[in-house]
Amino acid sequence: MTNSGRRNKTVVFICGAGHSGTTLLGLMLGAHPAVCFAGEAWNSTRLGTTDAHGRTVGCNFCADGCPVWGSPLPPPGPDLYEVLARRSGRSFAVDSTKAVGWIDQQAALLPGAVQRHLVMLARDGRAVVNSGLRKYPDARPAELASEWVAQIRRTEDLAARWPGTVSRLHYEDLATHTKDVLSHLSATLGLSFLPAMLDFWASVQHPLGGNEGTQHIMARERALRTADRTVALDRTKRAYYLGHPPTIVLDLRWREEMSESALRAFDAIAGETNAPYAR
Ligand SMILES: [Zn+2]
Repeated sequence: MTNSGRRNKTVVFICGAGHSGTTLLGLMLGAHPAVCFAGEAWNSTRLGTTDAHGRTVGCNFCADGCPVWGSPLPPPGPDLYEVLARRSGRSFAVDSTKAVGWIDQQAALLPGAVQRHLVMLARDGRAVVNSGLRKYPDARPAELASEWVAQIRRTEDLAARWPGTVSRLHYEDLATHTKDVLSHLSATLGLSFLPAMLDFWASVQHPLGGNEGTQHIMARERALRTADRTVALDRTKRAYYLGHPPTIVLDLRWREEMSESALRAFDAIAGETNAPYAR
């Protein structure tokens, strides 16, 4: 089978744990005119259904008539990223689904000529666990630490068997040396670096799922120009993000918020795994 008619040429999978900046990185890449950031594309398998928070699964920014997700998709198969390329006019697809099973499945379905990149975005596990505790105050730190270790191991295993290029980034570097990290990554992916990627806030994108806080700021910026609906945001995050200026700010809240007992529980379970990620 020839792929000469194929418009999607490259798929970039951003993997790692939740609360690690994957949505932020995806939105930065998606501000490039050659890139379609799909968000967590596994949500495409449940478009129009109601998620665990009572929201209808669909584009985070278009109330209706989304040019990417607004019309029915063909049956699941190798063509998801090709559909995105045809609907967006962009030959790069970026998928920030973190479930390793989905990434394995999608990568295996891609025609051989398609470039596949894996970007592992890591963050200090204490920050990840603290974000989880903020979202689910009744969760046990030890449980969240175990989940983080398991996800990091699954992701490391994926990176070890990955048939394409693997880039390892740290959220903390992305947030503080954004231009350097992004321009280096862009070169690895075969993309030209554009300043627009640093100022992605008002760009027009169509992601599914992912971090609500970052996308809320984008919706606010875009609302200044259009009549976009705002992204639904739960109350615990609202105060933080409403006061958040539209710049990249390194989030180190865990250093103040995490209790001694939570830190001890984390260290006992995840201290060793966290050593290369500790910041
Ligand atoms: Zn949309």
